[in-house]
Amino acid sequence: AEPLAVSVRVAPLGSRLVLVLVEDQTERRRVEAVRRDFVANVSHELKTPVGALSLLSEAVVDASDDPEAVQRFAGRMQVEAARLASLVQEIIDLSRVQDDRLMIDPEPVAVDELIAEAIDRCRQQAAAKQILIAAGGIAGLYLHGNRGQLAAALGNLVENAVNYSPPRTRVAIATRRISSAAALGEADGELIEISVTDQGIGISEKDRERVFERFYRVDPARSRATGGTGLGLSIVKHVAASHGGTVSVWSVEGQGSTFTVRLPAGQAPTEDEPDDEFGDEF
Ligand code: ADP
Repeated sequence: AEPLAVSVRVAPLGSRLVLVLVEDQTERRRVEAVRRDFVANVSHELKTPVGALSLLSEAVVDASDDPEAVQRFAGRMQVEAARLASLVQEIIDLSRVQDDRLMIDPEPVAVDELIAEAIDRCRQQAAAKQILIAAGGIAGLYLHGNRGQLAAALGNLVENAVNYSPPRTRVAIATRRISSAAALGEADGELIEISVTDQGIGISEKDRERVFERFYRVDPARSRATGGTGLGLSIVKHVAASHGGTVSVWSVEGQGSTFTVRLPAGQAPTEDEPDDEFGDEF
């Protein structure tokens, strides 16, 4: 087991009493370690596409009278730009995971909106590979938690499904509601299940145990080519756990994978409870 990290604060309460506050810092330390590793890795990872873009743009200028070469260089610039975009996305995700507001101010989060956002996030990559993303299941479901974190988690799953699938395949996002009896032991009350199924390369049994570790990539070269950092699934796992949920994977190598998150259900916001912070004044 990992050692427990605690912070201890002592405050005097009069002459004979002290208040001792012991706070579990393990999770905070873990997130902090991820952030530090990420910063070290990312500075290296960012330099590669930026350097390539700079060289390629010079090459385009030099080759201006050779339309075929210009086409080729422009194509490679698109790949590098996509890689840069997805690295930036991971930086945003990581900063959202560190957002402590989850504990202070959880809110109802519409699953339909999370799905729409996740699809939107990889619209370009999906279109380039002619991958169809379809969402089905129950509409109008709500979760309870931090919107930004949940969006980062689902976004990562859909993005992976697109990245690790061949062209002209399908990605299916499905939602359902399960009672705690069906979820046996995972949580009290109702759970919402969101699954993302692809027809991609799949993950071997040996790798399935490790893909949720930070920086673990089955094929580092392939992952890097799509802008992967090996952090996406560790972010998903962190978000699921901090919301009292789980994430799991089912896969057949060469046929595809299904990633499933189960999270405690939330309540739809009521009419007289405005969901923006200025609501009270109007
Ligand atoms: P990355 O940034 O490399 O995508 P992730 O943490 O999101 O990092 O995923 C870790 C590794 O798990 C990936 O590098 C890839 O090898 C594998 N993986 C993740 N999602 C899928 C998927 N849908 N199909 C096949 N392999 C996947």
